[in-house]
Amino acid sequence: ETILTVWNLTASVDETPILKGLNLEIKSGEIHAIMGPNGSGKSTFSKVLSGHPDYAVTGGDVIFQGQDLLELEPEDRARSGVFMAFQYPLEIPGVSNLDFLRVAYNSKRKHQGLDELDAFDFDELVREKLDVVKMDAAFLNRSVNEGFSGGEKKRNEILQMALLEPKLAILDETDSGLDIDALKIVANGVNQLSTPDNSILVITHYQRLLNYIVPDYVHIMANGRILRTGTKELALEVEERGYDWILAEAGVGV
Ligand code: ADP
Ligand code: MG
Ligand code: MG
Repeated sequence: ETILTVWNLTASVDETPILKGLNLEIKSGEIHAIMGPNGSGKSTFSKVLSGHPDYAVTGGDVIFQGQDLLELEPEDRARSGVFMAFQYPLEIPGVSNLDFLRVAYNSKRKHQGLDELDAFDFDELVREKLDVVKMDAAFLNRSVNEGFSGGEKKRNEILQMALLEPKLAILDETDSGLDIDALKIVANGVNQLSTPDNSILVITHYQRLLNYIVPDYVHIMANGRILRTGTKELALEVEERGYDWILAEAGVGV
């Protein structure tokens, strides 16, 4: 079953074209990785998928589970089952992590036509999910991400993902300065939460992340397009040889 189809997607920031005809297909149960040099448009792609207002789609299509994703408001994309790991990077003083998670979770249930979980039932559920990320329950009572270390923010992201059980999770790890600890948290979370019913797209320029997450497909992106698709061996080849040969063979610059 195809979950996501991206066809000839073009997008601009401030009238400057960044995505220049991106094609991608993701099926249920698959883990995909997009790698590529800095500035190739990886984060732009994830922001376009999330519906960020600074990024103007100028052409192409994005179909998520048979639905035109680009027509949905950002909140509706999330409620329909698209999870963005950078969706909640903000620190929100005065709002407890527990309350925040409950609102996000219940918003999704409502979208599915289900009753909201009350505070007691939600508390029980969230404690089960804490095990997935080996997160201390004390974090639930702290303000969202306030004073969290990089690794703790990552744990929190994976906790959100475990709760929301998205159909498609998109994790852009490019700018987060992942140390080895945070990297393992992300990888463990992804590996535990990957099921035949969902799909995961990891965006990274760290080959080493893919030592812990084994992707079914690796895509190399440069100059706003995916230039080459392979298996995990392609990531190893890139680590050894860099990106230039792929760009040269495709006849493009970065
Ligand atoms: P990557 O994640 O692959 O490193 P980005 O998508 O962050 O690449 O950036 C691709 C290009 O788009 C870069 O040239 C970057 O400067 C530009 N760009 C991205 N976002 C913005 C923005 N908000 N304003 C101006 N330029 C942007
Ligand atoms: Mg980036
Ligand atoms: Mg269209």
